[in-house]
Amino acid sequence: MSNKNFTCSGWSSTAIHGGHEPDPNSSHITPIYATSTFVFDTAEEGMERFASLDKEKVYSRWGNPTFKECEQKIAALEAFGLTDEAGQPLQLKALLHASGQAAMATLFFSTLQAGDKILSHHSLYGGTFELLNKVLANSGIQPIIEDLHDLNKTEEWLRNDPAIKMIHIETPANPTIQCVDLEALTALARQYGKLVSVDNTFATPYLQQPFRYGVDFVFHSTTKFLNGHGTAIGGVLLGRDIHFMKTKAWKWHALLGGNANPFDAYLLTQGIKTLELRMERHCHNAMEVAHFLDQHPAIAKVNYTGLPSHPDYYISAKQMRHPGPMMSFELQGGLDAGKQFINNLQMCTRAVSLGTVDTLVSHPASMSHAGVSREDRLLFGITDGLIRMSVGIENIEDILNDLSQALTDL
Ligand SMILES: *Cc1c(COP(=O)(O)O)cnc(C)c1O
Repeated sequence: MSNKNFTCSGWSSTAIHGGHEPDPNSSHITPIYATSTFVFDTAEEGMERFASLDKEKVYSRWGNPTFKECEQKIAALEAFGLTDEAGQPLQLKALLHASGQAAMATLFFSTLQAGDKILSHHSLYGGTFELLNKVLANSGIQPIIEDLHDLNKTEEWLRNDPAIKMIHIETPANPTIQCVDLEALTALARQYGKLVSVDNTFATPYLQQPFRYGVDFVFHSTTKFLNGHGTAIGGVLLGRDIHFMKTKAWKWHALLGGNANPFDAYLLTQGIKTLELRMERHCHNAMEVAHFLDQHPAIAKVNYTGLPSHPDYYISAKQMRHPGPMMSFELQGGLDAGKQFINNLQMCTRAVSLGTVDTLVSHPASMSHAGVSREDRLLFGITDGLIRMSVGIENIEDILNDLSQALTDL
């Protein structure tokens, strides 16, 4: 796009053109700037780049043009259609990271210090739970894990404990697809002067925009739906306080060494361009799969927020465009039947992770949440026989045929 004043009005147009800057060598696609450092034509130019708030074209741990397009694209999508307090288009700053975990480390360590507490909820991503309980706790930052569905109890925590500095929300969350109320929790946090961060990995900015409710930070494991093809690990941290993001958050990200790499950023940028198309298909397929499983005699229970039987059906409907591609279920035959089912699958892929174009099936108790004690797992609803599914964008007949044959005689 040579016309810099053109603003895309559509979601996919923004995903495709957003953040792109013309390349000095007329490359259509922003190149993979595989370089550790950048050249200064003069000493003065070097001094200027060091002194600027953006710290561009200095050293790739600090930033890189291939990261920049991707960061600006994700910021445009998380801010899509939103306005700030003054009614102007919302501005966000994104920092690309080596992984979702690295983005989380920057977030927590740049905002919290020893003596602070962080309030979060059950059912967190396994890596988040361990980061809070092992790394943060070991640095004197105490996590409090509560049921944030209970707004009265949440308010009590916020009112009575001034050491709580931040609420961390993951919605929808692994693997029972629990959702919590972004609007209500953000309003409570605001009332008591707490920061709010949201892990928006499962929803993506296409299905849910936490900045709509005034949260301070959003992060993603870009490894999942944003990349969409399972080709790279990555993470992104976004904030609405641009100065904080360009100073302390940027500094912590650079010092902790959580920078992305140009090849992964390039893959991510290409993946994001088709996010709307993919999410529409993922969500359509997931609804069909949920109805199929829900009626199948071998299935005991389906956790899917698109089914009215899910306890968070209304919260999901309120804050998400569609219920999403993720679900979990239990077989009548428990753990043994679950293992047999996974082994019977022919097309669907046996793998952890989520958000790829192919359908992924995993067993949380022995895989993604193996680092979490059985007692904590059961508290989160992760029973021994639970199976998690990230519904892909294959043709629905093939997904249903594979599930159907794998469930025969169980
Ligand atoms: C995968 C994931 C993470 C961690 O991201 P990595 O890219 O694996 O470091 C965090 N939160 C959620 C919800 C995830 O699914």
